[in-house]
Amino acid sequence: MSKNNKNKTGAYSFFNCIKKNFDKAARFISIEKGLLEQIKACNAVYSMHFPVKIGKEIKVIEAYRVQHSHHKLPCKGGIRYSIKVNQDEVMTLAALMTYKCAIVDVPFGGAKGGIKIDPQTMSEKNIEKITRRYTSELIKKNFIGPGIDVPAPDYGTGEREMSWILDTFLSISPGDVDALACVTGKPISQGGVRGRKEATGLGVFYGIRELCSMKEDMFSVGLDVGLVGKKIIIQGLGNVGYHAATFFHEAGAIIVALAEREGAIYNKKGLNVSKVILHLKNTGSILNFPEAINIENTENALELECDILIPAALENVIHKNNVNRIKAKIIGEAANGPITPEADEILEKKGVIILPDIYLNAGGVTVSYFEWLKNLSHVRYGRMEKRFSENMNAELLQVIERICSKKISTEKKKIILRGAREIDLVRSGLEDTMISGFHKIRNLKNSSKIENMRTAAFVLAINKIIDSYEKLGIFP
Ligand code: NAD
Repeated sequence: MSKNNKNKTGAYSFFNCIKKNFDKAARFISIEKGLLEQIKACNAVYSMHFPVKIGKEIKVIEAYRVQHSHHKLPCKGGIRYSIKVNQDEVMTLAALMTYKCAIVDVPFGGAKGGIKIDPQTMSEKNIEKITRRYTSELIKKNFIGPGIDVPAPDYGTGEREMSWILDTFLSISPGDVDALACVTGKPISQGGVRGRKEATGLGVFYGIRELCSMKEDMFSVGLDVGLVGKKIIIQGLGNVGYHAATFFHEAGAIIVALAEREGAIYNKKGLNVSKVILHLKNTGSILNFPEAINIENTENALELECDILIPAALENVIHKNNVNRIKAKIIGEAANGPITPEADEILEKKGVIILPDIYLNAGGVTVSYFEWLKNLSHVRYGRMEKRFSENMNAELLQVIERICSKKISTEKKKIILRGAREIDLVRSGLEDTMISGFHKIRNLKNSSKIENMRTAAFVLAINKIIDSYEKLGIFP
């Protein structure tokens, strides 16, 4: 571990790793140093301790909310529940959110929250108590609100926790018609948007699919164009990993290994993802899946033969001690910060293509943005125009049939006539965002001769934030 990745006390610092990536990008930007320092720094850090009665005992809960950048408001970022949560980690994840939002043109500043608990060992009732108390603490300090700071799910949280946050917020904002927009990733019945749950995994799929369609890039790593037949390993079968695995499987890729906490499973001919999920639901573990062999040490799965490796669990899983055994030609960072800077440099020298987290997992915040807009406009996407489009399409088809004196089959008609539903619009917006984001980064990398996609993505993001600060003006 280089000295730079440690904090003042000598402990490993995830935040310093991101600063390192930032500094690499800064070499390509000519701007006053002070502005770069401002962009790098966390604007507000709220570290809290609050008591919660668990059983007969009072437990002190450690939690955080960090707003990395106020250059655009509201701030936006998920909330993580994990026993590993600490201030450095939350600050880093908040910073990543700032760059992510800039890359995909989502007009938010970056934020992140975290509660240091292990939800796997707690009852639902206790998780609810902690979530509601955490929300009250955020309300007290004005750290949550549709125009202030809007949380979302992350590692260890999902729709259930977002509903509790909403309900707590609603209870103190009677009459606020925009209150639903205080949090995203909610269930549909609570103002959620169709397509949010799978958005990050689908965004990962769109990003990697686009890379695999680039002849030059595929040639550089000795692979054929396209996804069909590509061998893929996915680490983490949670929200992001599960949906990504499903989309790749459906597109004809071969999922050779899946890794979870308790171990990994491998089948060189490919795993049927839905069958694995069913097995997981029935047995509580992916291990002993009948059509695969078990790998006891889950980390070893990352080192298996494959074309594409997708870490979708936690940070720092590819590090200097295992990087030389990684065989993937492409790594898609579905998780935040899965590769340490040391490992990153080694992989770059080996010619591995890395699609960085600040681009690849931005599908979640993109669709969260759509959800926020839906909540503020108080109407479901497609509600106003669906029937109108269908009627217009029907008129048009009739004219075409008359002019051509030909009848179009009922099946084709069904497809052509259909007006867009909410899910169609959300997915189309997500697909467009991921594809155009990919090309913006790739074009910048090639035109400015930047060494890799990560640095190019940082340059793209920093330039957009600089533009925003410059137009906003800085107090003299
Ligand atoms: P999740 O809690 O739904 O899933 C994480 C999964 O990883 C769980 O199934 C867990 O058992 C597994 N896991 C934990 N430790 C592991 C280990 N050592 N090896 C293998 N598997 C392990 O979380 P998620 O929402 O899917 O988030 C995963 C990653 O994606 C995180 O880094 C998160 O910050 C990032 N991310 C999530 C979103 C989102 O919308 N949920 C958006 C952007 C980025």
